[in-house]
Amino acid sequence: MYDFVVVGAGPAGSRFARRAAETGRDVLLLERGDVGEPLACSGHVSADLWAFTPPGAREALLENEIRGANFHVGGPGSKGERFYRDRTISYVIDRVGLDVLLADAARDAGVDLREGHSVLAVEEDQEGVAVSVRTDASDGGGTDDAGGSSTEPTTATFHARMVVGADGPVSTVRRECGLPEPGEKLQGLLAFSTETEPADFVDVHLTAPSFFAWRIPRGEAGTEYGLAAPPGENANELFDRFTADYGIEVGEVCAGMIPIDPPSRVTGHRSLLIGDAAAQTKPFTGGGIVYGMTAADHAAREVDPRDPDSLAAYERAWRADLSTEIRLGAWIRRAYSLPEPLQRAGLRALSGEIDVHMDKPTSVFSTDQLRAFLSRS
Ligand SMILES: Cc1cc2nc3c(=O)[nH]c(=O)nc-3n(C[C@H](O)[C@H](O)[C@H](O)COP(=O)(O)OP(=O)(O)OC[C@H]3O[C@@H](n4cnc5c(N)ncnc54)[C@H](O)[C@@H]3O)c2cc1C
Repeated sequence: MYDFVVVGAGPAGSRFARRAAETGRDVLLLERGDVGEPLACSGHVSADLWAFTPPGAREALLENEIRGANFHVGGPGSKGERFYRDRTISYVIDRVGLDVLLADAARDAGVDLREGHSVLAVEEDQEGVAVSVRTDASDGGGTDDAGGSSTEPTTATFHARMVVGADGPVSTVRRECGLPEPGEKLQGLLAFSTETEPADFVDVHLTAPSFFAWRIPRGEAGTEYGLAAPPGENANELFDRFTADYGIEVGEVCAGMIPIDPPSRVTGHRSLLIGDAAAQTKPFTGGGIVYGMTAADHAAREVDPRDPDSLAAYERAWRADLSTEIRLGAWIRRAYSLPEPLQRAGLRALSGEIDVHMDKPTSVFSTDQLRAFLSRS
C-alpha cells in the first residue's frame, strides 16, 4: 500500500509528490496523458516560481522577462495606461517544460510516476483509499499493486492511505470524494502568433466581461493572445473578435478552465485537494501555478498519511497563508466590472511606477504603495 496516490502531474501534484517523497513517504503519481500536455496556460509567473523548481530551471525555461503592463479600458488600438518597474516584475516561461522538470524532480526523489493512467473512481474507507484507473495501451498497459499487467488498455486499482487530488479544475477526485465545487469556473483561451518583436510589457484589455484579454510577448517563441470569460459568455467569439482587432493570425487555440473562489473544504476522510482542484488561484489574474505549489508544500509538511486528523492542519496552513491574498484579489477583480469612465479615471490616476508583487495583492494595499498612489492622484 502506498502512503499517497497523487492524481495529476501538473505543478501542484508533482511538487507535492516530490516533497512527500523527500520526507520518506511512498508516493504513486498518476497522470492521464503525457506530462505537460495539452498546454492550456500562459506560464506568466513571479520570481517566486524559482523557489519551487530544481536547479537550472530558469535557464531551461525562460522565454522573456516582463517589466510592466499596459492596461487598456478598450480593445487593441486604445490608449493604455502604463504600470511599470525599473526591473523585472515577472517571467514568461515554457509551461510544458515546467511540468516536465517538476515531474522529473519528483521521479528523482523516488516517486513512482505513471503516465497514461486516467483515474476513474476513488473509494475512501476507514483504512485507506482504492483508486481505479484506465491505462493507455501506449503506456505498456496497467500494472496494478496486485501485480497484474497487460499490453492492452485496461483497468487497475491502486491502494493507498490517502489520495491527493491535484487533477486540475475539473477534478475527478473532488467529485468522487464528494468535496464541494469552486465558486466559479472561467473559460480560458489562448493562441500564439509568430511575431517576435522584442518587448517587455504585457497588454491587458478590460474588455472581456468581469475579466480581461491579454497579449504577452514571448521572445523568440512568438506572441501570445488570450482571454478569460465567465460561463455563459461566448468566449470563442470574444477571442476571435480580440485577435481580429489586433489584425493578426494565430495558430491552434488552447482552452482550459480557470477555477476561482476555493470551496469551504478541500479535505475529506482520507482525501485532499491541491492546486486548481482546490481553486487555489488568484481571482484577479486566474494564475495558480505558484499558489498551487505553495499549498502543495503545506500539504506535504502537515499531512501524515496514517493520521486523517492531520488533514485539518493542512486546511489551516494553506488558508492562513493564502486566504487574505485571495480575498483581496477578489476585490481587485471587481474593478474590472466598474463603469468605463471610472476605470479610465482610476487607471490614469494610479499608473506609473509601482512596487507590487504579482502574487500578493496585500502589496497593492501596503502603506508605501498606498502613499505612492495618493501622491499621484
Ligand atoms: C488560458 C489559461 C492561462 C493561464 N495562465 C496562467 C499564467 O500565466 N500563470 C499562472 O500562474 N497560471 C495560469 N493559468 C492557471 C494555471 O494553468 C493553473 O493554475 C495551474 O496549471 C494549476 O496547476 P495544477 O497542478 O493544480 O493543475 P493542472 O496544471 O491542470 O494539472 C492537473 C493535471 O491532472 C491531470 N489529470 C486531470 N484529471 C486526471 C485524471 N482523472 N487522472 C489522471 N490525471 C488527471 C491533467 O492531465 C493535468 O496534467 C492559466 C490557465 C488558463 C486556462
